[in-house]
Amino acid sequence: MGLLNKKVVLVTGGTKGIGLEIVKKFLSEEATVITCARNIPEEKIKNVDYFQLDVSDSLACKNTIESILNKYGKIDVLVANAGITKDAMTYKMTDEMFDDVININLKGIFNVVRYVGPTMENNGTGSIITISSIVGQYGNIGQVNYAASKAGIIGMTKSWAKEFSRKGKQIRVNSIAPGYILTDMVKSVPEELLKKFSDQTMLKRLGEPEEIANAALFLASDLSTYITGTVLDVNGGMRL
Ligand code: NDP
Repeated sequence: MGLLNKKVVLVTGGTKGIGLEIVKKFLSEEATVITCARNIPEEKIKNVDYFQLDVSDSLACKNTIESILNKYGKIDVLVANAGITKDAMTYKMTDEMFDDVININLKGIFNVVRYVGPTMENNGTGSIITISSIVGQYGNIGQVNYAASKAGIIGMTKSWAKEFSRKGKQIRVNSIAPGYILTDMVKSVPEELLKKFSDQTMLKRLGEPEEIANAALFLASDLSTYITGTVLDVNGGMRL
């Protein structure tokens, strides 16, 4: 039997990169998998339910989550993965670049968790996994907007771990902080910088999306029932 048998899972941003690998991994572990993104691919994965959603739109999040709950009755696991970058040195960063990243990466997670968390409280169980970043923990040149959003996610994760379990409910909230993972998001990073990042890891390589999906599976499943409020570093030992 799969590790996620009978679990209903919502993965935001599951059409590409890390989110897509999480969707595939969770399907292979027999979860019922729902995903959302702004653009729905023409080639869909069999047995995945797709919703068109911009997570920065609070009302749309409310409506979509209501639709999912009407259809499936519950959400057992939420992976709040959707995110973007809009990088620039601080002196060049526009209001729009700053606000877009905060509205999608930070407010977008709030928009989803605010409607999913209370339903988990009613059910008495649930696992929420947020995707933060090594950049939220240590900062990065040219990514002040992204660093702020990802550091904020860690603060929200710890707050929700306290809030949703306060009545003794078995609701766990954890974050995965990936290092540099080979997806479209890092494609714009210059080759020599990626080589530098790779050299900075203990394992001397960048990460694969599946390595994040494996961590998400652990936190989603009953293998981690006593783990909450943590930030799981999946970065090849980039910072020790
Ligand atoms: P990708 O760009 O490959 O995929 C991002 C996914 O999020 C897509 O499915 C995209 O679909 C979706 N998405 C983006 N904006 C929105 C939105 N407003 N509403 C709904 N869905 C949205 O990125 P990665 O897979 O690399 O990144 C996934 C997560 O991991 C992000 O939160 C990222 O910050 C984080 N991360 C990534 C690292 C890396 O090195 N790759 C390192 C550390 C953290 P669409 O555009 O159609 O909406």
